[in-house]
Amino acid sequence: MVEEGKPCVFCQIANHSSSTRTDLLYSDENVIAFRDIKPSAFRHYLVIPVHHIPTTRDLHRGPEDFQLVSHMLNVGQNLLFKDAPASKVKFGFHQPPFNSVNHLHLHCLALPFIPRWKCIKYWALGSHCGFLEAKKLLERINPQPTTNSQ
Ligand SMILES: [Zn+2]
Ligand SMILES: [Zn+2]
Repeated sequence: MVEEGKPCVFCQIANHSSSTRTDLLYSDENVIAFRDIKPSAFRHYLVIPVHHIPTTRDLHRGPEDFQLVSHMLNVGQNLLFKDAPASKVKFGFHQPPFNSVNHLHLHCLALPFIPRWKCIKYWALGSHCGFLEAKKLLERINPQPTTNSQ
């Protein structure tokens, strides 16, 4: 759950604040990627937008957010493909109130989960609760949906 009144840790990382020493796995003008400080799997990376967006609820159907999330997913896929080519992978978001940091972050997981029970954190609990697969979110905000979802 989110603590109020503290500076956003992910903004600090994105702004290369000197108080953080996070190794970036990837960075460009729109997104950065780094390792989760409490990994739940063989490889566990986070991809975040540089610009502060609180949660998946703040994303809207349209080309701008769709392109941002597509780009985040691409970056995550490339990193895991490089670092864990043989692993089963999973990409998605925690939806409020189950998100730990109120700055949008894509979890990029290369399985297995470590320890195994960690998988429960990444279960979908219906479409508006729990873990939201990146593909599902993209369907939700796609300005030109190709399939008839929901
Ligand atoms: Zn932030
Ligand atoms: Zn999270």
